[in-house]
Formats: sequence, structure tokens, C-alpha cells
Amino acid sequence: MGGVGASRIKRVLSHAARRLTAPSLVLMYHRVTAPPRDPWQLAVTPAHFAEHLEVMRRVGRPQHLRDLTRALAAGHAPRHGIVLTLDDGYADNLLEARPLLEKHDVPATVFVAAGCVGRSQGFWWDQLENFLLTPVDLPRHLQLEIRGEVHRHDLGEDSYFPLAAQARHAGWRATSEPPTGRHRLFVTLYRLLRPLADPERQTALAELASWSGVPAAGVSPARPLTAEEVQRLSAGDLVEIGAHTLTHPQLSALGADAQREEIRGSRTVLQEAVGASVTSFAYPYGAPSDYTRETVALVAEAGFSGACATTSGVVKRGSERFELPRLHVEDCDGDGLARRLAQWT
Ligand SMILES: [Zn+2]
Repeated sequence: MGGVGASRIKRVLSHAARRLTAPSLVLMYHRVTAPPRDPWQLAVTPAHFAEHLEVMRRVGRPQHLRDLTRALAAGHAPRHGIVLTLDDGYADNLLEARPLLEKHDVPATVFVAAGCVGRSQGFWWDQLENFLLTPVDLPRHLQLEIRGEVHRHDLGEDSYFPLAAQARHAGWRATSEPPTGRHRLFVTLYRLLRPLADPERQTALAELASWSGVPAAGVSPARPLTAEEVQRLSAGDLVEIGAHTLTHPQLSALGADAQREEIRGSRTVLQEAVGASVTSFAYPYGAPSDYTRETVALVAEAGFSGACATTSGVVKRGSERFELPRLHVEDCDGDGLARRLAQWT
């Protein structure tokens, strides 16, 4: 009997251990749409997104980020919790994603770059894409001054972008080798603009607009939400609005005062917009080089209760709730997502 009892206790203990270590996942999306190009892999089609929501309902317990961080703060971790997050605050989050979230009854946390709300010309990386990767003939030579340094580029024959080349390279990802001089220039400029403060970046974008002939103030198809749309998105209890700074800077490139303004400012603006407390935050770009220890302290000091990075990983009891890892979800069907989730849980 003793032996049987011991094995039963062992079984109960191992079951308890499984429960405690069963991880939660935070999934990272940006856009729900089918754009003509997607160099940063930000978009999932509405059809695939609907399949993803079905999978989430089936395999996990969908919840807001604030629920996960509340549990972590209390020393727990929800078992098989799944948090669906959408970064930046694209209009398609309301127009395409929200109706599907409602239909499948899956809550989501949307991190809004509060200072970009209503910017009809779009986010800076989309503007850059419009200047470089759309079918316009560009001047062969570019001369651009950034922080007192003059950058010169010669596009050569790639100043023209024939239809055949556009079609051939529509599926290009910025993480792979640039196939033309335009794509190379796109990557070079992206790297130059990313660490800039917003006013410097706006100046550079205005120069690029006049160089390319693509109007800087034109309405981008990849536009951010307007203030009124943020309110509609947050109506009811389906979508938690989280903060994502004001102007989407690389926080590690800013001094403490500028970081504080970006972090606190976004919380204040969004709380006023939605009339509720905003307690979740996501670091722009989110890699370990994009924020510092000081940034993490400033986020906690600003009154947030949890924050997401973009490093990959699962969330367990004891996970650092101001640096939660996430799983970047690519545009795959429901089976593809189920396979990926199975690898992680
Ligand atoms: Zn972002």
C-alpha cells in the first residue's frame, strides 16, 4: 500500500508541476489586411486571422494583457493563457480585426502609438515604403542630410521600376537580400531614420517626399486610427487599449526626459481618449537593443502594470512582467498557427 500511496502522491505532484509550468503565450500582430507589399511581415489576411481566432478559442484561454500581468503580479500565471496583441494602432484593427474578434469572442490588447493617431500620411516606415517601393520613377541621385552628415546614393537604372520587377519583388521581405538598388536604399534609409527623434525624422521624410515626388501628406492606405476610431475600437470590454509611446521612437536612442515624455505622454493621451485607465505598454521595435533598464523603470514609474517586448518566449509564473516575450505571428492559415503554438506549449 505504501508503494501505491507514494506513486499516487508522485502523480499528483507531477500534475501540479505541469499545471504550474504550463505556459501562457502573448501573440504579436500588427495589421489585419492584405496589402500589396509587406516588407516587415506586419499583415495577416482577414481570412487567416479568423482561422487564428478559432484556433485560440480551441487551444487556450484568450484574455487581455492586463489580466495576465495582474496574475503575474499576484505570483500566478494563468494556465494556457493566450493574449492577442496588435501593435501600432492601424485603422484595420477596427475595420477588419474588431468584427472578427466580436464574432469569435476573442479579446485583444491593441498598443496605440498615441501621437500617430490621425496622421493620415501613415507611420514613417509606411511612408518610406511609399517613396521607394511604389511604381514611381525616382530621380537617379539622392542627397540627404541627417544630423549634419550628408548621405549620397546613386540609384542608377533602378530609378525606374518596371511593372515586371514590381510584380517579381512584391513578396520581398526586408530581412532578406535586397534584389534592386531601390530595395537596398529602402533598407539603408530605414536604418538611418529609425534612431531619429520624431522632428528630425519628419524633416528627413519631407525631403524624401519632395525628392520622390510622392506627396508626404497623401492619405496612406496603411493609415493609423483616428481619435474617434480609437474610441470605437475600445467600446465595450472586447479590446483593451495599451500604450506604445507617442511617436514610436527607439527609446534606447533617447535621453531619460524624452523617454519619460513619450511613455507618460502616451498613457495620458490614451486615458483621455478612451476614458479608462491604461495599464499595458509595449516597447516600440521591442528588441533588447531598443530599450534599456532605465526605460523599464520609467514604464513602471508611469503607472503601467506590465509591458511587452518582441523577444520570443513563453510567459510563466515568475516571468518579468515589464519585459514579456511574444510570439510574432506570420500570415499563415489556422493549421499553421496551431502547429506553431504546439511547439511553444
Ligand atoms: Zn510598433
